[in-house]
This record gives sequence, C-alpha cells and structure tokens, in this order.
Amino acid sequence: MNKDLILKKIGDWNQDFSYPLFIAGPCSVETPEQLDQTVGQLVEQGISTIRAGVWKPRTRPNSFEGVGAIALPWIQEVKAKYGVKFAIEVASPAHVDEALRAEMDVLWIGARSTVNPFTVQDIADSLKGVDIPVLIKNPINPDLALWIGAIERIAQAGVSSIGAIHRGFSNFNDTKYRNSPTWQIPIELKSLFPDLPLLCDPSHICGNRDLIQHIAQKALDLSFDGLIIESHYQPDKAWSDAAQQLTPGSLGNLLQHLKTRKVAL
Ligand code: PEP
Ligand code: MN
Repeated sequence: MNKDLILKKIGDWNQDFSYPLFIAGPCSVETPEQLDQTVGQLVEQGISTIRAGVWKPRTRPNSFEGVGAIALPWIQEVKAKYGVKFAIEVASPAHVDEALRAEMDVLWIGARSTVNPFTVQDIADSLKGVDIPVLIKNPINPDLALWIGAIERIAQAGVSSIGAIHRGFSNFNDTKYRNSPTWQIPIELKSLFPDLPLLCDPSHICGNRDLIQHIAQKALDLSFDGLIIESHYQPDKAWSDAAQQLTPGSLGNLLQHLKTRKVAL
C-alpha cells in the first residue's frame, strides 16, 4: 500500500493532510481519570491518534506491568468521547484477540517482542485475515535483519498497513541517551523500504524529557514520516517512564517549534 495511505489510515488525517504524523499518549494506561485527562488535553493540542500501553513488557520483575485488559473499556470510553484513534502494544495472540474485540485502531509490536521471531510469528498468525495497521518497533539490539524479519512476518500474514518505529538500541554502558539512536540503522531500513512509513519514538531514545526536542527535530531532518511521543497530564506521577513524559502542553509547544522541512538523505 502507498505510504501516504498507510499514514492516513493510522492518523486519520484531516483534509489539510497534515504532515508529519504525530501520535502521542501516556506510556501506560493507569486509571480512567488519568486517561481521560491526558487524552482530553492532547486533543486540545491537535493530537488525534493516541498511544498507551495496556500490557507493559518490563525488563525486571516487580515493576508495574500494566493494568491489563481492564483498560480496554476505559479506552473505548475516551475514543467515543473525544473521537480519537487509539494504538496499543500487543505481545501475544491473546493480546491481539482482546485488542481486536475492543476495536482498537492501531497495534504496535514492542522492542522486546520484535527481538523474538517466535513471538512475532505467533502475533503474525493471529493477524491473518485482519485488516488493522501494525507498527513494528526496532528490536532492542541493533540488528537490522531482525527488524526486517519482523516486518516481513507481519506482511506475509497479509497485513497491508505496516509502519516501522525507531526507538533506539539498548547500551551496556550509561550514555546520554537511554537507547542509542544509531541513525544509520533506520536510514538503511528507509533506503531498503522506501514505501514503508517510518516513525521515530524520541521518548524511548532519550529517556529524559529535556532531550526530546533535539531528537524529534533530528528525525524530521532525516525525513522520518512521523513521531510517537509519550505524554501524561502529570508526568512526574506516571507509573512508568516518568522522566521522559511531557505534559500535553509541553508536547504541543515542542511540536509547534519543530521545523518540518524535509531534506533528502
Ligand atoms: C513503550 O512504548 O512504552 C515501550 C515499552 O516501548 P519499547 O518497546 O520501545 O521499549
Ligand atoms: Mn514507555
């Protein structure tokens, strides 16, 4: 499918065909109130596709692992109230099944799932015959072939609207960024698959809200097709990824200051 059509399907672009595509929302759904406040404030900033984690794959046990399926009716409520589209992460066929039954609009595969071909294949099998856009994050390790393999598995299941999300690659040593941007990997993906929409997730690259503007601008300068950014109405109280989330107001300000001029790679 044509790249603009895929982006339109994900973003429900309005008639002025706004570009790039911006997706925003909390790292995790926490409570009905947190979701309602955050989504309401994001809509005021012009965001129409919301992201949020329902099931959270955490690196270490005993961290907050998402509220789970109880969040799905809360999401349905905000979708109806604000007219937004909603994207959630799926990491198993059971998640896909619940997400589809709850009429989510977009699914994404997280970095800790992309890394495992068995997991990706299970998800792909559960998507056969289903027409929903799927965004595929890069694997946590800097391995372009694994990322491509995940994209191919989902494509071979018959999913027609696929996008990729660059969320950086994990490091052993502490670095400025939580996950190194290693831009040459998404740039190579883009040159191999020019029709694949490529979004950047500056939140998980940066790990710190102060760095997000710079990475978001860099992504647009490199002709990424959009951004997916974490936003929470009370970031410091967030149950996951507190340091990197922006208030909807700060996010709106950040987006307004981005220069969207595209430069050739
Ligand atoms: C997330 O989007 O909140 C998340 C867990 O992302 P990633 O898979 O990139 O770590
Ligand atoms: Mn997160």
